[in-house]
Amino acid sequence: PCTEFDKAYFNSYAHVGIHEEMIKDHVRTNTYRDAIFHHQSLIEGKVVVDVGCGTGILSIFCAQAGAKRVYAVDASDIAVQANEVVKANNLSDKVIVLHGRVEDVEINEEVDVIISEWMGYMLLYESMLGSVITARDRWLKHGGLILPSNATLYMAPVTHPDRYRESIEFWRNVYGIDMSAMLPLAKQCAFEEPSVETISGENVLTWPHVVKHVDCYTITIDELESVTTTYKFRSMMRASLINPRVPVLPTVPSNNSPMDGSQRKKRTNPNEALVLSTAPEDPPTHWQQTLIYFYDPIDVEQDQLIEGSATLTQSKENRRFMNINLRYSSGGRSFVKESVMR
Ligand code: SAH
Repeated sequence: PCTEFDKAYFNSYAHVGIHEEMIKDHVRTNTYRDAIFHHQSLIEGKVVVDVGCGTGILSIFCAQAGAKRVYAVDASDIAVQANEVVKANNLSDKVIVLHGRVEDVEINEEVDVIISEWMGYMLLYESMLGSVITARDRWLKHGGLILPSNATLYMAPVTHPDRYRESIEFWRNVYGIDMSAMLPLAKQCAFEEPSVETISGENVLTWPHVVKHVDCYTITIDELESVTTTYKFRSMMRASLINPRVPVLPTVPSNNSPMDGSQRKKRTNPNEALVLSTAPEDPPTHWQQTLIYFYDPIDVEQDQLIEGSATLTQSKENRRFMNINLRYSSGGRSFVKESVMR
């Protein structure tokens, strides 16, 4: 059933700003276009469904790549504009805009291709992947293509001293006034919730750890309700960090690298795999990185073991929200950080 929360979710996509931001993310949009034309032989003359078409951009790319028919589905009122865009580009005979949820609309044929841009912050935020799974199970032909084919969420400890200085240390001396009394509130406000911001490869202290790998052909909706991983990191010192003891800001960045357009079980040459990366060392995207800050920095020395677990659970109150439980032990101390991404 479509809940009040879903209505609010679809409303948030009725505004132009969110679509403008996604379309202006050239890393994102060009990788999708490249993937579509890279798979042109599998799209030409075929039937495609675009799960969550927004303004219709991916549907139109598919039509340009020669799709016979594209079902462009969106539950948000942005579908009204998508339909106008399709008409204005003389594609009404190819692109059929369906204004409704993929869970509810009717498509009276099997489809050869599913395309969707479903990835949220921290990959799984928004829980839209479930709708791609629904579309797959309702309409995808056996042996059909899903773009992207798979996605991976990574985590790694990072240091971000600038942020700590700007948001926290700042209060120690404000126009000569000691405002340290503000510190507890400042930490609470700055670090209670996951923070979406852009960091660079320089901030990352170790190789990343895979939190979850999603194979879009086989993943189930149940598997996404809660994702848990246990991790062990050994901190590596970076030449660029001169301090022997690096204050590790309390954090975990996450990035996804979907859009390897390989078909099910077919291993493509890695040189040909098209990857949409949101890693800190790669060009920035609108996904940025998601940081989970601890309230206080932790000192980490070279080769120090950092271990624990991370659990991402769809919130019971609203499955579009994500509860994050992060456990962390290092140097004989243990921490737990609970947060909610709303
Ligand atoms: N494909 C567009 C928009 C991506 S944003 C682009 O690449 O620019 C995701 C879109 O999916 C939003 O417009 C949202 O309203 C839609 N969406 C999410 N879940 C959906 C569902 N279950 N049924 C239909 N549309 C959905």
